[in-house]
Amino acid sequence: MFITQDKICFGDYDAIVVGCGFSGAVVSRELADRGRRVLIIEEKAEIGGMMSDYYDENGICIHKYGPHVFMLNSDDVRSYLERFCTLVPVTNYVHAYIEGKYVSIPTNFYSLDALYGTEKSKALQEKLIAMYGEGSEVHILTMRNSEDPEIRALADEIYQKIFVGYNAKMWGLKPEELDPSVPGRLPIRVAYNNKNCKKKYELIPEGGYSKLFRQITDSQNIDILLNTKAGSLLTLRDNAVFMNGAPYEGIVVYTAPLDELFSYADGKLPYRSLHFETEVYQGKREAPSAVTTFPMEFDKVRTTDMVELLDQKVEGFVANVSEYPGAYDKDSEKFHVPAYPVLNDDSSVIIQKYRALADQVRNFYYVGRLAEFKYFDMEASIDSALKCSEEIMKGVSSDV
Ligand SMILES: Cc1cc2nc3c(=O)[nH]c(=O)nc-3n(C[C@H](O)[C@H](O)[C@H](O)COP(=O)(O)OP(=O)(O)OC[C@H]3O[C@@H](n4cnc5c(N)ncnc54)[C@H](O)[C@@H]3O)c2cc1C
Repeated sequence: MFITQDKICFGDYDAIVVGCGFSGAVVSRELADRGRRVLIIEEKAEIGGMMSDYYDENGICIHKYGPHVFMLNSDDVRSYLERFCTLVPVTNYVHAYIEGKYVSIPTNFYSLDALYGTEKSKALQEKLIAMYGEGSEVHILTMRNSEDPEIRALADEIYQKIFVGYNAKMWGLKPEELDPSVPGRLPIRVAYNNKNCKKKYELIPEGGYSKLFRQITDSQNIDILLNTKAGSLLTLRDNAVFMNGAPYEGIVVYTAPLDELFSYADGKLPYRSLHFETEVYQGKREAPSAVTTFPMEFDKVRTTDMVELLDQKVEGFVANVSEYPGAYDKDSEKFHVPAYPVLNDDSSVIIQKYRALADQVRNFYYVGRLAEFKYFDMEASIDSALKCSEEIMKGVSSDV
């Protein structure tokens, strides 16, 4: 399974896959199951991408790069995962910590109760129901443009207390400067509805994500080279791929940032990064739910108690993973992980240029949240990787 560079003959592989998150692992397995020999090149010391986890000395599972829960609508993606693991249902809630209060997120009637007390909350609720209909979801910016001064004032307060601080910290941008697909723009719910997950299934893999990745990549046709940056081996010339300086005729599947591959020729793609701090202690959690966001704190955006999130049967422990955002810089000590693409007009021009360059490279496919420069959750990543695999197999089926 794991291989060292001195044992590698690149010509022995039908495909080289860069990165071993879901995008890389799923494509590798699909190709391997169809008889292709695959080499995965991963820069980290472990597989699993952003999903990588470990068990600490207390037996507590910790997500190394922030909390990950499958929120799925697709039965196909669920069935795919169940080939490799048992999926366990969980239900998670989120609160924002604002001026000493825990306020339910996404904003809903529970949040109004916490912010304003039941009497004022009731009056606002009646007005919201009359204006937008019970059970509806209203975008904060729609409410801010309302003709009713009380609704405008409510929207402004929620906007200031919950959205502005979060977005300024998370993205370094104002909410209206962001592409509508970014996750920070959550609706206001006209109901007592504090469910965080709106999809059909909320699941985690039994035994953790790293175990799941070991299962996915467990094929005699897959070798994995860790601790290796693709750029140290893979170069492009005349729209062809070279491995260690020699022409490579096989398939290349690239799941890392495209700007890096093209030596930033058309500019740097902006990513937000996160720095993670983990604190495990014996005691009781103060927050009412596993996940707490901190819109009004200077630098921290979110803390997740991994014990509660994963419903772990370890009595008396809290295992907090806290996230601190900053601008991505691959040479930064704290912010070297590209976490979220910053989607705006400038970045969309840059990524289109890199896509055009990548499209010209022979036998070259790019897939995943980094290479496609999209906000992909795990479901979208797996789906995209399965589609990419189909496309590759169509392209090579003539020479099978
Ligand atoms: C903090 C956080 C929390 C999240 N929580 C959830 C959640 O709860 N639910 C959900 O569905 N989604 C969640 N996501 C999204 C999820 O992480 C992505 O959908 C997933 O990582 C996509 O997988 P990927 O393979 O495309 O990318 P990645 O997981 O990033 O994998 C890319 C891999 O490529 C490697 N790589 C990069 N550059 C190179 C290089 N030059 N050479 C070699 N290897 C390289 C990286 O080390 C990495 O292993 C979260 C994301 C973040 C940032």
